[in-house]
Amino acid sequence: MRDWLAQRSRVTPDATALVDAESGASRTYAELDSAVESLAGRIAAEGICVDDHVGVLLGTRPAAVEAIHAVLRVGGVLVPLSTRLTAAELEPRIERADLDLLLCDAETEGRMLDAVGDVPVRSLDSDGEATAIATTTPRPFDLPEWSPEDPQVMLYTSGTTGRPKLVVLTLKNLLSSASASAFRLGTLPDDRWASPLSPSSMGGLASVLRSTLYGSAVLLCPTDADDLLAALREHRPTGISLVPTLLRRLLDAGDLPDSLRFVLLGGAPAPDDLVRECGERGVPVCPTYGMTETASQVATARPEEAVAHVGTVGRPLLFTEVTVVDDHGDPLPTGSTGELVIAGPTVTPGYYDDPAATAEAFCPHGLLTGDVGRVDEDGRLWIGDRKADRIITGGQNVDPREVVAVLRDLDGVRDAAVVGLSDEEWGERVAALIEVGDGDDAEAVDATAVEAHCRDRLAGFKRPRVVAFGALPRTESGTVDRAAVRERLREKRV
Ligand code: ATP
Ligand code: MG
Repeated sequence: MRDWLAQRSRVTPDATALVDAESGASRTYAELDSAVESLAGRIAAEGICVDDHVGVLLGTRPAAVEAIHAVLRVGGVLVPLSTRLTAAELEPRIERADLDLLLCDAETEGRMLDAVGDVPVRSLDSDGEATAIATTTPRPFDLPEWSPEDPQVMLYTSGTTGRPKLVVLTLKNLLSSASASAFRLGTLPDDRWASPLSPSSMGGLASVLRSTLYGSAVLLCPTDADDLLAALREHRPTGISLVPTLLRRLLDAGDLPDSLRFVLLGGAPAPDDLVRECGERGVPVCPTYGMTETASQVATARPEEAVAHVGTVGRPLLFTEVTVVDDHGDPLPTGSTGELVIAGPTVTPGYYDDPAATAEAFCPHGLLTGDVGRVDEDGRLWIGDRKADRIITGGQNVDPREVVAVLRDLDGVRDAAVVGLSDEEWGERVAALIEVGDGDDAEAVDATAVEAHCRDRLAGFKRPRVVAFGALPRTESGTVDRAAVRERLREKRV
């Protein structure tokens, strides 16, 4: 098997590959292919060959798409890095990935030049401090053979539960993921997939790679809700990948265009009321569950299913097996709640250069997700909390989601995060960070009101004993950054 883009540009050279909402510029597959061929030659001239690691630190712009394909074309392993990270956050990520080259642009180089150590840096722009790769003379290179077990991408997880892990994804993982997604949602020749997610996240990268296989176009979009809505109305895409916080903001900003067939919603739990609202407003929402370790989607609900069974993420994709296990790793009967274990062709072979973490992540039934959920009689998957989030206080189990649901019910509360803080007497204590809305009812929300509201609705051991107010810190994929929440609540307690 060879390079997807080269194949694609041979089959549909004149089809649109890429549209940049910001500049309005678009490229056909033939044009993208030739830009990638030239960049690949220049990357090869920098000494990069098969299996070398190339970091890509570029925002959501056409050059990022070119760089992604160019690295793969020379047989390099692609390491996408988020432009939202600070130099201090980038440094350990760059170091751990053993990069042989780092590609940046004028916008990202400043942040990164301090963080790279002795990794060579090349900029795709020529007006910055870093050496521009445009001045490199391209070198001919042999097209590498692509074989299914070859690592092609190494991607960091969001770091919701701790230090981000560097996930290895093979050609088989990426190809299976793209195929299984198409088997669930279908693809049409004129499809155009909007991607406000950065190509350094699993969702954003998957949109870019999948579209090449399908021959559809990617619409690179801004992330600000008003700008995004304007871009969607102008370019009328047929699909979009989003995280719940962004969909919430979009729906508040106005109605989505009726060109959309699928609004893929993942990365974090989709609140039930958001899914219901989508149903009422005719938004074709597809809640999905997935993770970096499974090259994105594990299960995806089609819109009609999502609205008929609010809260489900649908049935697992083709070839993906989900087993629910107890705390000893033994499979539970259908309908029981336990840890989700995933097996199938999309599952990573492991974490880069970390056999201990890899060994810990797998059991005989597959990858241990750390997520709690259940599969119902009809085979639909329902996601609960993360295992690490369960709170044990005075020997009693508390599901933080139950407490969050009660808090969200209080007028004036927009959202809440509930964690366990370690406590000498109780083992853990329930603590809540509460985000108030901007309506008039928000003013009445204080510790006393919260206490009164919870008293009637939650058993004593479930009630938050530490309460703080403020915006919920979130990771890039939209999940609540629980480490930061914990930090905030610990300070409050002192
Ligand atoms: P880390 O592994 O570093 O702690 P992370 O797990 O947040 O970070 P990702 O791989 O980006 O990193 O996210 C995958 C996780 O996101 C899943 O394991 C799950 O906890 C959560 N998630 C994804 N989709 C959903 C969903 N539909 N409902 C609930 N949680 C979801
Ligand atoms: Mg994870």
